[in-house]
Amino acid sequence: MFRSLVPLALVAALAGCAPAVNAEIPVPVQSGQEEATPTPEPKPTPTFDPTVFSIDEASSLWVVADKLRPLNPEKYKPAELVTLKLPHRYDPTMSSNAAGSYAVMYAAAKADGVKLVIQSAYRSYNNQVGVYNGWVRKLGQEKADLQSARPGYSEHQTGLSVDIAAGNGKCTIAECFADTPEGKWLTEHAWEYGWILRYPEGLTHITGYKYEPWHWRYVGRGLAAEMHKTPNITLEEFFGLPPAPDYAN
Ligand SMILES: [Zn+2]
Repeated sequence: MFRSLVPLALVAALAGCAPAVNAEIPVPVQSGQEEATPTPEPKPTPTFDPTVFSIDEASSLWVVADKLRPLNPEKYKPAELVTLKLPHRYDPTMSSNAAGSYAVMYAAAKADGVKLVIQSAYRSYNNQVGVYNGWVRKLGQEKADLQSARPGYSEHQTGLSVDIAAGNGKCTIAECFADTPEGKWLTEHAWEYGWILRYPEGLTHITGYKYEPWHWRYVGRGLAAEMHKTPNITLEEFFGLPPAPDYAN
């Protein structure tokens, strides 16, 4: 006990605020100071509840759209769309929750010297008709189906997805985007803002799409953090849904 008193007296003396105090005289310590801080009750570890949001409705934050799960309704349009005033190539519109998060993520990346560019975000059913038909003309239907969703099956139609490009435009919609500073930053940080990589490498047999390091899906921070615990896990696996390598018809 005595050891703890001397420094207090010395401090008082050195501070010059109490010339009458002799450094040799112990200063009384208030009772209770040395009592141990009560140990807080251990909190139960919160378990993640995968049923909080629907995975079936197109308007749900956790909707799972794939080749076996068309959007419901098929011509769904988000109620609240926000057009971001941020670097973009095509229409930088997203569902309001995704847009808010994207803006925060964009600023964080910028602070790290990384410039994210919105390549493509919300696409209406009718827009998707044009995009999909364009790929079919370019690649043929079989290859187009690996690259672009048929209308009514696209995550872009939910307003929760964004294709991101690099500031210098290199590797846009190409696998090498993963090796750009932007791609690397997203791999490391996007989950912190509620985004997941929707089509990871080597999982075409589950997702139905080839590796798309540019395609990010907003699911909210809770689910993104939970999924981050298992590298490259897909929404299908997380929610125990069947693999969707191809359309039913
Ligand atoms: Zn995409």
